[in-house]
Amino acid sequence: MVYNCINNILTLLYPAPCLLCDTPAQDAICPDCQADLPHNRHSCRCCGLPLTLADEATCGHCLAHPPAVDRSFIPYLYAAPIDQLIGRFKFSGQLAQGRLLSRLLADHLRQRAEMPDLLIPVPLHPQRLRQRGYNQALELAKPLARQLGLALDHQSCRRIQPTPPQHELKKHQRKRNIRGAFQVTRTPAVNHVALVDDVVTTGSTVNELAKCLKQRGVARVDVWAVARTP
Ligand SMILES: [Zn+2]
Ligand SMILES: [Zn+2]
Repeated sequence: MVYNCINNILTLLYPAPCLLCDTPAQDAICPDCQADLPHNRHSCRCCGLPLTLADEATCGHCLAHPPAVDRSFIPYLYAAPIDQLIGRFKFSGQLAQGRLLSRLLADHLRQRAEMPDLLIPVPLHPQRLRQRGYNQALELAKPLARQLGLALDHQSCRRIQPTPPQHELKKHQRKRNIRGAFQVTRTPAVNHVALVDDVVTTGSTVNELAKCLKQRGVARVDVWAVARTP
């Protein structure tokens, strides 16, 4: 309590630089940068794909081939300056950026999403985890679980195939690339799960994991991610 008070006074007296533009800011990013964030305002309720028509709820692809994912909540487009924040968080180990992204995501979800019984971060293959030193999805999910008061499970699902990153592949290769990539080692005894990830590229990865969980009896699987590639 005392520590928090002192911390708040220090922030007012000596604002830290904005994580994006370096001007002194009371928050992690300044109001100007906050206003510049690329919102994914109208998107497919299943896969989060940005849609051009505001009254459209589901994209043509999801209508023709309903995915295993029930709902996606993805507040931003993978564009500047969100892509910089994600890049530094994911590839340069700057975990402060991750905490900011998690807070932005929590603010969006609090107003819109139905809270699940459990959060599951999309697992990384052990080989990739060794290279990176942390799983960015877990680093997003931990503060998210704390902020929203939700349970977190990062042990029931494993990635058993070291697949190349989805963004390096052509569209038709992505689905094939991810098939059989996950294993559910312990069935979560819940009805409603939200998968957490940083970026959704085509939705193939989260959809494959959602399929595995549904095969084990989970009734509803949503996706919570920071950004969607168009
Ligand atoms: Zn700024
Ligand atoms: Zn869709």
